[in-house]
Amino acid sequence: MSVMDNKPTRVAWLHGASARCETIPKGPFLPWRIILLGAPGVGKGTQADLLNARLLACHLSTGDVFRAAATRSDDEQTPAMKEALAYMRRGELVPDSTVWDMVQERGACLHCAGGFILDGFPRTRAQAVSLKQFLDKDGLGLTAVVSYELPACEIVARLGGRRTCETCKAVYHTTERPSKVEARCDRCDGKLFQREDDRPESIEVRLEAYERSTAPLIEFYRKAGLLVQVSATGTPEEIYDRTLPELETRRLSLFAERMWMSEENRRDA
Ligand code: ADP
Repeated sequence: MSVMDNKPTRVAWLHGASARCETIPKGPFLPWRIILLGAPGVGKGTQADLLNARLLACHLSTGDVFRAAATRSDDEQTPAMKEALAYMRRGELVPDSTVWDMVQERGACLHCAGGFILDGFPRTRAQAVSLKQFLDKDGLGLTAVVSYELPACEIVARLGGRRTCETCKAVYHTTERPSKVEARCDRCDGKLFQREDDRPESIEVRLEAYERSTAPLIEFYRKAGLLVQVSATGTPEEIYDRTLPELETRRLSLFAERMWMSEENRRDA
């Protein structure tokens, strides 16, 4: 079976509490639990896709949940979701309480034996604190928090050319990472679309929101000893090649720590 055949379907994440993934990955001894940070347009979604193909941990994007909700009919959307979508279209952050309710409803995905790659969450300090309390309560340690870094002028160029698959959410770029057939996804032949919030007026609002609310999380996770900083210049593959060894080193030391602790426990017993 190829890695792609193994790709998690993310049904439970995209559609919420009542939805179930067809297959629950068995997962490694220490599941990968990763958070991706970085301004809109640095390529977190693309990196999440590449990491997912290698590590198998599910790509959990809060933006994808909102976009999946936006495709439902009006009477299928709750009032809270309608309000959230209005914030999203303007490029503003959705209120913390709405986002946290949505993530908590999908708490099973954070417990998944296959691990997770969180993309777009947490985005504020309040969200980071809620997530920490949730994970700590159940002893779910994070492997690492990757912060992708890129100058603002490159970010704007990347956002303008971005295209996303309507069906599997794979991310392309009109010039940097074009699909083989114009406007169709290489992976599933789904239709590619430009996100509403990738228009210039929303881009500006999103970059401001990032600087104000999300950039301070870099310090939050540095203090927690989890931060891995990666330059997001170059091709997606180059960025990925810079990230993977850093993640593997971190995981190896977590693994050694875990083995050491179980050895200690055995000795004390
Ligand atoms: P980006 O490419 O800007 O990082 P995402 O796909 O992660 O975008 O999110 C798109 C939009 O969804 C955001 O601009 C925001 O309106 C909303 N959103 C997604 N995640 C969050 C979050 N954790 N907190 C608040 N708003 C969010």
